[in-house]
Amino acid sequence: MAKNYVTIDGNEAAAYVAHKTNEVCAIYPITPSSNMGEWADEWSAKGRKNIWGSVPQVVEMQSEGGASAAVHGALQTGSLTTTFTASQGLLLMIPTMFKIAGELTSTVFHVSARTVATHALSIFGDHSDINAVRSTGFGLLSSCSIQEVMDMALITQAATLKARVPFVHFFDGFRSSHEVQKIEMLTDEQIRAMIDDDLVIAHRMRGMSPDRPVLRGSSQNPDVFFQAREAVNKYYNACPDIVQEAMDKFYDIVGRRYNLFDYVGHPEAERVVVLMGSGAEMTHETVDYLTNSGEKVGVLKVRLYRPFDMTRFVQSLPKSVQKIAVLDRTKEPGATGEPLYLDVINAIEESYADNGATFAKRPYVVGGRYGLSSKEFTPAMVKGVFDNLSLDKPKHHFTIGIEDDVTKLSLPYDANWSIEPDEVTRCLFYGLGSDGTVGANKNSIKIIGESTDNFAQGYFVYDSKKAGAVTVSHLRFGPDPIKSTYLIDSANFVACHQTVFIERYDMLNSAAEGATFLLNSQAPTEEAWDTLPKSMQQQIIDKKLKFYVIDAYKVAKETGMGARINTIMQTCFFAISGVLERDEAIAKIKDAIKKTYGKKGDAVVQMNYNAVDQTLANLHEVDVPDQVTSDWERPPIVPDEAPEYMKNVLGKIYAGHGDDLPVSAFPEDGTFPTGTTKWEKRNIALDIPVWDTDLCIQCGKCVLMCPHAAIRAKVCEPELLENAPGTFKSMDYKGKEFKGMKYLLQVAPEDCTGCTLCYEICPAADKKDKEHKALNMQPQAPLRESERENYNFFLNDIPEVDRSKVRHDTVKGSQFLEPLFEYSGACAGCGETPYVKLLSQMFGDRAVLANATGCSSIYGGNLPTTPWTVNKDGRGPSWNNSLFEDCAEFGLGFRLTIDKQNAYAKELVDRMRDQIGGELADALITADQSEETGIFEQRERVDRLVEKLGSIDSPDARNLKSVADSLVKKSVW
Ligand code: SF4
Ligand code: SF4
Repeated sequence: MAKNYVTIDGNEAAAYVAHKTNEVCAIYPITPSSNMGEWADEWSAKGRKNIWGSVPQVVEMQSEGGASAAVHGALQTGSLTTTFTASQGLLLMIPTMFKIAGELTSTVFHVSARTVATHALSIFGDHSDINAVRSTGFGLLSSCSIQEVMDMALITQAATLKARVPFVHFFDGFRSSHEVQKIEMLTDEQIRAMIDDDLVIAHRMRGMSPDRPVLRGSSQNPDVFFQAREAVNKYYNACPDIVQEAMDKFYDIVGRRYNLFDYVGHPEAERVVVLMGSGAEMTHETVDYLTNSGEKVGVLKVRLYRPFDMTRFVQSLPKSVQKIAVLDRTKEPGATGEPLYLDVINAIEESYADNGATFAKRPYVVGGRYGLSSKEFTPAMVKGVFDNLSLDKPKHHFTIGIEDDVTKLSLPYDANWSIEPDEVTRCLFYGLGSDGTVGANKNSIKIIGESTDNFAQGYFVYDSKKAGAVTVSHLRFGPDPIKSTYLIDSANFVACHQTVFIERYDMLNSAAEGATFLLNSQAPTEEAWDTLPKSMQQQIIDKKLKFYVIDAYKVAKETGMGARINTIMQTCFFAISGVLERDEAIAKIKDAIKKTYGKKGDAVVQMNYNAVDQTLANLHEVDVPDQVTSDWERPPIVPDEAPEYMKNVLGKIYAGHGDDLPVSAFPEDGTFPTGTTKWEKRNIALDIPVWDTDLCIQCGKCVLMCPHAAIRAKVCEPELLENAPGTFKSMDYKGKEFKGMKYLLQVAPEDCTGCTLCYEICPAADKKDKEHKALNMQPQAPLRESERENYNFFLNDIPEVDRSKVRHDTVKGSQFLEPLFEYSGACAGCGETPYVKLLSQMFGDRAVLANATGCSSIYGGNLPTTPWTVNKDGRGPSWNNSLFEDCAEFGLGFRLTIDKQNAYAKELVDRMRDQIGGELADALITADQSEETGIFEQRERVDRLVEKLGSIDSPDARNLKSVADSLVKKSVW
């Protein structure tokens, strides 16, 4: 039978089988699992049927707790039911999972394994969530690749029906859930053949019904609970055999062979690595390379993690093994070792205790951690682990992939060691989140994967920023299935889809010798070379790169594509990368265009065809001189005047070198300074607003509306402008309150995102030309230097407006208040952040924030920088994030502390009134803080109190000093 290849990601692969083999899906979204639920929902909405010819019912619940409870209920009434989740979502299901397992209920939860939030949240992948549910009684089955995700989803479903042990089928968040691969699709017949209808009916018949009433979920006492709990044992004992049977059956039906533990490597390996998940794919690739070089090494892939079959595990290892490194993608502080390591130790120990061990020599086992939060895990690191095993005394409880200069646990490795096969084409694309680069690349993978014999892999790295976010697409194509589950660091093709990136990123660091570099540049071909920074020119010369340019914006504009450059850049890729024969590739792009836009009519299809043809006409190779001619260098990512921590730590993260920071660079408890976006000059706006003082009516709406606090207003005495830069603008203040003073409106040119909201809202238009307003968008580049100087003058030489002199309850007045939320990385034109910023203007100097997880926690608290900042007195919002679910209660906790400390402080003030003076004590206790003036007066009183307490040595004085700030009113958001 012809193989049915598709190019999909892991989430779609899991959801495909889940939707085919279930009747009910109760879902709740959480990154990176959300797409599974979305696929199931979409397919049911479109009427796609399961293998029994019925459309599964999909219900979205209010939380993961709700989803798991709905699953429990549907299962208990006999439906085949599933859900999809990750991380905290899985943890919120734990109580129900105990119930589902305790009742021996067949189900599979599909989990894209993700880091559980600790000192910080992370949406990326590791096994901390999986390990947190080890004790629930769910079986745990791991997939290493996208093909395996589809295969194991089916194997698990078949096994749970027979075993009656419920399962979590897991695969690595992002690395597997979002990696796109060409895989072989399971057919309905194959799925049908794997699922035993008798077991489905048995499951159904165990369902609760008034026609055959039973009672479950009883309450039991000490006399019987223990025995009843032990009654499940035989199901867990039988479970590994049942899973292996399902794997064997799968092999008979589909032809792909799996075992509970799969060993790969030298048949007489002396050093073996044990691990599970996507890292096992790359370790497999590395072991193949090393064994081909004559090394006696191997890898044991753990598939069935729970129930852990100790006998099969030991039997799966080569008898020759002498040293084993067990790699866990999780951290359990205070444990004697990470969980998989402990399982291995136990299995080997018991094999000796039971005389079941057949090793030539008792193996020496060490454990280590790798890849937390999707930290890159590369062949070089695997080599480092094997090198550790070669030592007489290998390091125990090590880490790999980081530099631990504090507890010295990390293993050394040669980061430059690479095994990228020559026959694999490797491509890197730098695009903006919104410019269609990722979509075009997914399309290219489909074209290559589905219409040629090549295998294809795509992985997409997104910047944490939402506005002006860079996305780097990593694409591999080759004749064999691709096991390289790591980023490309030696590319044959590098494309820069946004010219501004040449100022920001060292894109050619990852270019291989002789690679091709494609740049979208507005410069004419003959001038393109001169637009590059010195170091980039040097790299092109040293690495003998071929250099191509296209003005994709121009082609897009001229062919009616507007700002959409994706098809144009995709055409360039196919035209010059050599991945496919050029004419064949162009024909396939045009096929894809027809498929995508056919429904929109011939005109749209023709427009896209024309863009393809014009692309070829406008794509030019640049003659590379043999010498550097540029006179400029990429500016430092963070200015010199920034604080040391910003330059040495946060700036490195911003520059993309966070992986190089050692453990000692970080706070132990996740505490970071605020006010750091100001050092991150992103320069992402193509156009910025320019003020026309002839038209401005000083309404302040532009300032209110700006989501990024990138345009600001002040008033000042005219004398203060005497030393203003030549291009600095001002106008006479219109109105009584600041009569005789100057009104200033200034853009932050390097922080503006070019969203145009200020222009849109501006009500002051030229009567003769309605498009021309008091603010008008103009290209940023020629204005950058002068406006930077103007903005610095505005910030540093013009004082903030006295808060007590402006009205807080008008748009105009409120916009003279200093924002304590600035230059956030929210999407350009965000509709939420103007309100957040306004709150910070009104109350930010006395606010503590409990932020629910979501958009606002990402633009508010995603490293490296935070927009929450401080005023000249060092006061500003103090921010924290607990969970998505508990934000209100978290904030309530803040309020409880603030109120309690306030009451305690008043008690102490009263108790110490003789020492601090009755008048001050009374004023502190009875202060009216309903207006800002009252708050400022109270702050002055607290300053006096603290000064007095400094000279009093008593426990009460020390305690009062520690809570004195609570006497000033606080605002909890
Ligand atoms: Fe602010 Fe957008 Fe105007 Fe820039 S264009 S100043 S980001 S509103
Ligand atoms: Fe002036 Fe227009 Fe801004 Fe109002 S919105 S302050 S008129 S520039």
